[in-house]
Amino acid sequence: MSGFSRVIRWIVLVAVVMLSATAGAVAQQAGASGSGLSALARFEPEGSSIRDAGDGIAVDLNISQPVPWRVRTLADPPRLVLDFREVDWGRIEDRALSTAAHVRDLRAGLLQPGWSRLVLQLDGPFKVASAEMRTDPSGRGGAVVRLTLRPEPMAAFRAASAAPDPARWTLPRPATMPASQRQKRGEGPLVVVLDPGHGGIDPGAVEGKVHEADVVLAFARKLKEALLRAGGIKVVMTRDEDVFVPLETRISIARAAKADLFLAIHADAIPEGRAIGATVYTLAEKATDRASELLAERHDRDDLLAGVDLTGQDDEVAGVLMDLARTETMPRSERFARDLVTAIKAAKLHMHRHPHQQAAFSVLKSADIPSVLLELGFLSSKSDRKRLRDPKWQATMVGAIISAIRVWAVQDAAEAALLRQ
Ligand SMILES: [Zn+2]
Repeated sequence: MSGFSRVIRWIVLVAVVMLSATAGAVAQQAGASGSGLSALARFEPEGSSIRDAGDGIAVDLNISQPVPWRVRTLADPPRLVLDFREVDWGRIEDRALSTAAHVRDLRAGLLQPGWSRLVLQLDGPFKVASAEMRTDPSGRGGAVVRLTLRPEPMAAFRAASAAPDPARWTLPRPATMPASQRQKRGEGPLVVVLDPGHGGIDPGAVEGKVHEADVVLAFARKLKEALLRAGGIKVVMTRDEDVFVPLETRISIARAAKADLFLAIHADAIPEGRAIGATVYTLAEKATDRASELLAERHDRDDLLAGVDLTGQDDEVAGVLMDLARTETMPRSERFARDLVTAIKAAKLHMHRHPHQQAAFSVLKSADIPSVLLELGFLSSKSDRKRLRDPKWQATMVGAIISAIRVWAVQDAAEAALLRQ
């Protein structure tokens, strides 16, 4: 499979994931209008342009709000195809929008209920050199889609544009979309995914005979039992034995379980050896400090060494799409992190002097599931090491986590209800 078709698959995958995230809004709109296109977003001609750039083409499209989208090329004739969720293109004025000599024709319209398409007919083979959707920095809530196209040899273009698998363009119609997590919440049990870090060939931090992988699995099992006893909560473990589970698979497990909340559990070692206490991490590209950055990097490296290459995921388009989906999820993750810190402090357990930190942990990158990583303590600290294996300490920490989950779930359900109104 070529790199480009991998990218396409990724984009479609992410788009489908996002569909479920937006299903609530879509269902509501469809109910109100009864039409196929509820036009969540509008194309904004002002500031949009398609123009020649060197021997390539530059595309800037403004839309009134970020939406799932995908991009690909098609051959015979050479075309650039952009699909957007719920964008009303209105009447596009070709000449006003495009001054590119390489663009022969341009059309936009409804593709199928809920999806609209923009097609640029090109005067030769071009590849998508870069593609991104950025939210409007002015804070007005809009988004800009920015692409650059570069000339490409015809053979490569044809290979990239060939569509042997039409399924990759098949998208679920709004009516058959899975119910969004927000809609679901408050009805069934809360689904909590516990993710004990490392395992199998990846022991995590090792201090003498103590392996992080064992410590966190034992703790996760206790937490699971206690959550089940507490009732009203469904618990799914990403691993329940000493096996290696790739980071990507951990996320897939959470998604398959339709998780409401994802909690990664670790007990790492810090080279400086001075860090003690529990730390709660949420996702950010820019780490709070160097130690957090190293920790996140090491988790990814552990995974890499175990034979899983994450670099293939580092496609910019998918990354930006994920960022957009996260705009809804991130505040919910942050709130759970705060609830956790509050509960752990209330239980009078040791916390790191900066109890809530941020770093680019790959396992927290689910776009649609609030995700938090809890470092129970540091195996590199003698006192933490002792606490981590003390049943009384474990029981207190389990209690604190359960109370944080309860507090979070109540508020999250209340906010979802507010949003539905
Ligand atoms: Zn770890």
